[in-house]
Amino acid sequence: MIRTLTGAMFGTAMAVATLVTGTGVASAAEEVNVYSLRQPFLIEPLLKAFAEQTGIKTNVVFAKEGVVERMKAEGANSPADVILTVDIGRLNDAVEAGVIQPVKSATLEANIPANFRDPEGRWFALTQRARLIYASKDRVKLGEITSYEELADPKWKGRICTRSGKHDYNVALLAAMIAHHGEAKAEEWLNGVKANLARKPQGSDRGQVKAVMEGECDLAIGNNYYYGAMLADPEQKAWANVVNPVFPTIGGTKATHVNVSGVAMTASAPNRANALKLMEFLSSDAAQEIYASADFEYPVKPGVKWSPVVESWGRFTADDLPLSAIAELRSAAVKMVDRVGYDG
Ligand code: FE
Repeated sequence: MIRTLTGAMFGTAMAVATLVTGTGVASAAEEVNVYSLRQPFLIEPLLKAFAEQTGIKTNVVFAKEGVVERMKAEGANSPADVILTVDIGRLNDAVEAGVIQPVKSATLEANIPANFRDPEGRWFALTQRARLIYASKDRVKLGEITSYEELADPKWKGRICTRSGKHDYNVALLAAMIAHHGEAKAEEWLNGVKANLARKPQGSDRGQVKAVMEGECDLAIGNNYYYGAMLADPEQKAWANVVNPVFPTIGGTKATHVNVSGVAMTASAPNRANALKLMEFLSSDAAQEIYASADFEYPVKPGVKWSPVVESWGRFTADDLPLSAIAELRSAAVKMVDRVGYDG
C-alpha cells in the first residue's frame, strides 16, 4: 500500500502540502514524508531542489507544535519518515520520546561536524543560529560588553532585558554555561544576570530589542536571525536600528554559543532509503546554502557560503562544545532557572 498524507488522516489542525511531484519517471513509491516544525517558506525551496535532483516526491505536514505527541499517538503506523525542527531541546525531546531511529551515513558524518550531530546518529543539525547580545547604540559603547559572563557584572544593574529563562533558547545558553563553568559558577552567573534585569522576563527575543528602543533596558539577548527579520520588517526596522549586534564569547574561549535546527529519522519510517537520501541532500553544499540563507541562519557544513546579509554582521566562531552536551544539561539548567527564581 502506498502511504500518502491526506487532510483526512491529520484532521484540520495541520496544513498538508504535497510538493513537486516527480517527472513521471519515478514510481509512485518514490516519496518521503516530512513532519516539519519549520515554516513552509524555509522548506519548500529545498524540497523542490531535492525533487529535481532525485525525482523523489515529498509530502509535508507543517505544524507549529505537537509533532512528537502526534508521532507517539500514531506509533508504528506513523507515515512520517523524518522530522525537521528547531532547537537542540526539541530534537532531544523526540529522541527521548522514542520516536527516532539512529542513522549511519558516511555522507552526513563527512558534511556535519561532530559537535553538530548526535554521536549515535539520532539527530543531525542542519543550520546554526548564534545567541547574541543586542546592545544599545546610544548607551553602550562598542566593545563595552564582549562575553555572556559580563552580563552578570553589577555595572549592568537594571539594564538587561530577556525573555523567560525557561525558553528553549535560554535553557540551551545556560546549559552551555554549566558545561563551561560547572553548576556552582553557572548558578552564580544566573543570579547575577537576574539581579541586573530591568524587568520581569517576558515576551519574545524581538520584544527585548523593542524594549531597548523604548529605553527600558540597554542590553537584550536574542538569536541572530531576528536581527535580519527585524531589519526586513517595516515596523521592527526601527527596533533593530537602535542596537549593535554583539557576538559574545563563552567560557574564556573566543567562540559564541550557538543553537541549531536539525533533522531526525523517525523510528517507523516507511520510506527509509528515501529519507536517508533527503537527509544527505540537506547536508550538501547547495542545500546548506539555500537553507541557511532563507532565515538569516548559518550553515553547519564548513566552507559553505554565508548569505551576504549575515556576512555583513561580521564573522564569528561557533563554540565547539558538542550540542549533545547541551542536551544532557538541559534539565539541570531548567532546575537552576527555578532555583534562582529567574522568571520571578
Ligand atoms: Fe526563534
